Amino acid sequence: MIADAQCLVAFTGAGISTESGIPDYRSPGGIWSKFRPIEFDDFLASVEARRETWRRKFASHEVIEKATPNAGHRALARLVDGGKMLAVITQNIDGLHQASGVPDSKVIELHGNSTYATCLDCRRRYELDWVREIFAVDERLPLCASCGGMIKTATISFGQAMPEAEMERAHEATLAADLFIVLGSSLVVYPAAQFPILAKRNGARLVIVNREPTEQDELADLVINAEIGSTMSRAVGVN
Ligand SMILES: [Zn+2]
Repeated sequence: MIADAQCLVAFTGAGISTESGIPDYRSPGGIWSKFRPIEFDDFLASVEARRETWRRKFASHEVIEKATPNAGHRALARLVDGGKMLAVITQNIDGLHQASGVPDSKVIELHGNSTYATCLDCRRRYELDWVREIFAVDERLPLCASCGGMIKTATISFGQAMPEAEMERAHEATLAADLFIVLGSSLVVYPAAQFPILAKRNGARLVIVNREPTEQDELADLVINAEIGSTMSRAVGVN
């Protein structure tokens, strides 16, 4: 199917990153089964919610900081590099597609990126080390040096609007695809999970690689219940 396709689009979820040692926070035993997620409105309204957000971030950040791309990421980077893969749409926030060599312009992050922070008002970027230094002193909250706005990791929180530009880019890429490959997503989180359905309706072939069955297996032309790294490295010829 890859050989036949003219325009590939990948759609990745937590499963591709668990193979790099990043836990799936939605799975049983994952972070969200232990901590109630902090809603975006609570973050805006409450100093304590903001402090708790940063406490959790710095408690868990090391795992993401130390993680490196695996064979699944590298296979996608190879397909992008070869010019066949138009875009990697991802639900992940770990930056591992970029770390594997996929240029920023080809990665569409539907849920943002947790490896840096931005001002909620003017979008200025801040590095986490800078936030950590401020927060280390009596849990002081960082404020934007340009506009005084609140600073938050560049992720999309519960209750926060989906990023419009990324949704639009994902929509366009999906409509351009003649082969749409889902990797490591159980396809239960909407609106992200609408994209494989859209691709299929638009005439693309749909492939799902996931360790467990997904909500959209019946739609797919091919379902592979296996590790992503070994499957994709064989399919693409990388290791
Ligand atoms: Zn600002």
